[in-house]
Amino acid sequence: MTTNICLVGIGKIAIDQHVPAIKGCNDWALAATVSRSGTVEGVPAFKDFDQLLTDRSDIPVISLCLPPVPRFEYAAKAIAAGRHVMLEKPPGATLAEIHELERMAQDAGVTLFATWHSRAAKAVQPAKEWLSDKTITKAHINWKEDVHKWHPGQDWVFEPGGMGVFDPGINALSIITEILPFEMRLQKAQLTYPANRDTPIAAEMAWSGNVTGDFDWRQTGPQSWDITVETTAGTLDVKEGGTRLFLDGDEQDTGNLGEYPHLYKQMKSLVESGTSDVDLRPMVHVSDAFTLGKRVSTDPFDF
Ligand code: NAP
Repeated sequence: MTTNICLVGIGKIAIDQHVPAIKGCNDWALAATVSRSGTVEGVPAFKDFDQLLTDRSDIPVISLCLPPVPRFEYAAKAIAAGRHVMLEKPPGATLAEIHELERMAQDAGVTLFATWHSRAAKAVQPAKEWLSDKTITKAHINWKEDVHKWHPGQDWVFEPGGMGVFDPGINALSIITEILPFEMRLQKAQLTYPANRDTPIAAEMAWSGNVTGDFDWRQTGPQSWDITVETTAGTLDVKEGGTRLFLDGDEQDTGNLGEYPHLYKQMKSLVESGTSDVDLRPMVHVSDAFTLGKRVSTDPFDF
C-alpha cells in the first residue's frame, strides 16, 4: 500500500537523495513539500508548515530535511499533530531535544526515526557481521573532505548547532558505533576552530578501545571517508563512506538497495510495526567532543 509523505526543507539533500528515493519505490507518494523557497515539480508546495498540517490530514508521515537547528520545532509540531516523523542526521541540535521528541512520540503513539544514512551504506552490515566475533586491537577513522565542495555557501554548518566538521564526521561515528562489537568512550579531543567561526573545521579524537579519528574539512585533492579496524584475525577497511569493504586489502562483494531507499524501507516497516528507532550514540560522541575537547584556533574561513 502506498502512503502519503511530506518532505520539509527542499534543499541539497532533499533534491539529491530524498526525492529520488521516494519516487523510486511504490511504498510512498510524495504528496506535498514545505519549504520557504524550494519546490519539487508536480508536487503541491506549502510555505507554511502549520498550514500543511491543518490542510493535509491525508499525509501521515513527515520527513524533515532541514538543518539540525530548526528541526526540533517542526518535529514537535508534526508529532503533536499525530504524524510519524523521520529526521535527517544529525537528529537535532542537542541531545535533550531528541529525548523530548522520543517522549512526545511515545505519548502520541507515532513513529520517530532518527536516520543515519551512512549506516545504510552497503559495506556496513557485512563489516558488522565480520567484526562481531573478532578481537579488535585498533581502529581509526580518517574522514577528510573539502567543505567548499560539499557545503558550498552553507553558513549554517559554522553557526552554533551546525556542528562544523562533525556534520559529515557524524556519518563516520554512525558507522563505527554500528560495526564495533563494543561501546567506545571519548578520552581526548582537540577541536580546531577558524578564528571567525563558531564550530570546528577539524578534530582529532581518541576513544577507549584504542580507537582514534581524524576529521578535517580542509582536504583538497582525493577525499577520504575511511575506517580501518585491525583485529587479531586481519584488517578490515570500510572505504568511501561505507560503500566498499576490504579484508586484508581484498575487496569483498557487497550489495543493497542504496542508502536512502533503504532508509525509506526502514521507515515504512517502523510505521507498520508501530515502533521508533532513535540511536543517539553518534551524537553522544560529538557532544562529548564539545565538552571534553581542547580548543585551538586557526586561520579565518570564508566560502
Ligand atoms: P541545506 O540545503 O542548506 O538546507 C536544506 C533546506 O532547509 C533549505 O533548502 C531550506 O529550505 C531549509 N532551511 C534552512 N534553514 C532553515 C531554517 N532556519 N528554518 C527553516 N528551514 C530552513 O542543507 P542540506 O545540505 O540539504 O542539509 C540538510 C540536512 O541534511 C543536514 O542535517 C545535513 O547534515 C543532512 N545531510 C546533508 C547532506 C549533503 O550532502 N548536503 C548529506 C546527508 C545529510 P527553504 O529555505 O526553502 O525553507
